[in-house]
Amino acid sequence: MTARAVIDAPALAANLATLRRAAPRSRVMAVIKADAYGHGAVRAARTLSAADGFAVARLSEARVLREAGIDTRVLLLSGVHAAHEVAEAAALRLDLCVQHDWQLTALQHAPDGAFFDIWLKVDTGMHRLGIEPQFARAAWDRLRTLPCCGELRLMTHLASADDATSPHTHEQLERFCLASAAVGECEHSLVNSAGLLACPQAHAQWVRPGIALYGASPMAHGSGADFGLQPVMSLHSTLIADKTVPAGGRVGYGGHWVAGKATRIGIAAIGYADGYPRHVAPGAPVLVAGQRCEVVGRVSMDLTAIALTHAPSAKVGATVTLWGPGLPPDEVARAAGTIPYTLFTGVTARVPREWTDV
Ligand SMILES: *Cc1c(COP(=O)(O)O)cnc(C)c1O
Repeated sequence: MTARAVIDAPALAANLATLRRAAPRSRVMAVIKADAYGHGAVRAARTLSAADGFAVARLSEARVLREAGIDTRVLLLSGVHAAHEVAEAAALRLDLCVQHDWQLTALQHAPDGAFFDIWLKVDTGMHRLGIEPQFARAAWDRLRTLPCCGELRLMTHLASADDATSPHTHEQLERFCLASAAVGECEHSLVNSAGLLACPQAHAQWVRPGIALYGASPMAHGSGADFGLQPVMSLHSTLIADKTVPAGGRVGYGGHWVAGKATRIGIAAIGYADGYPRHVAPGAPVLVAGQRCEVVGRVSMDLTAIALTHAPSAKVGATVTLWGPGLPPDEVARAAGTIPYTLFTGVTARVPREWTDV
């Protein structure tokens, strides 16, 4: 067998239940953008059928869900990206985020019969998307006059919720309160996974977890297990060769790794074209037949070399786990100078996703 991503459906469902317990008074908008962070959006949506809604980042992602018969609320997180998308968004019965004046104008020209629940996004300090809080009331009033405007809600996004000591989160919450006071009573949504786990005071009516559903931690340290989350994706491949490299032998492109003494090396059928990062640090951890081993030399497109010093009995055909149970993606991400988000979304199309049943 070659490179494959095994997706543990029961773990995904269990993580949703864990997050619900962490935010017991909120409804959960499960974030399944980017093909459910590389796991597979349709299967993820079916597995997360207990969610109160789904959120995606592209109209095309919403279309895939509706074509698969998923009937739950689907929010387009940044709203439409061009005015011509309004008609399809209406046909797909999406909830829309409105984060800029031009989207308001586009909605004024929505086709007859279009009808949306709208989430007005205020920029409380991240300075990415959103209406300035002092203009929230004006935008709100304009939205309310539109025939296509259904229920209106207020949302924002926190920039530093992964850092519990950041003063910026408090500032953002204060600005949100101003906007909320200006528009009056409505439902709110402020937090992603980090805010859900670290800022209970900001849970409000709707939480928007992404990464935590997939079992990784949104924080800079630790792993999903710190919050009772289970790993969902395991990236596996197989040893397709082994050999003993003599002392002084160089391994891989550029010969960057040099054997200090005779070393048995295994070659795993996985590389950066599968999404295993080329820039993992020397000595990055992998499991070979369940034993922790180290990557040696440069990761190449289809192959990765591993020192078998700690798995002396591993042979050709042994399973290699790049991340999964026993090797949190959080730890692999740190070894690659990145975050679990990029590991998951970076797994490429040639890697089959094998779902286990709920
Ligand atoms: C992606 C996204 C989320 C989910 O973020 P995680 O860090 O994966 O939990 C929530 N809200 C918005 C607006 C997003 O873009």
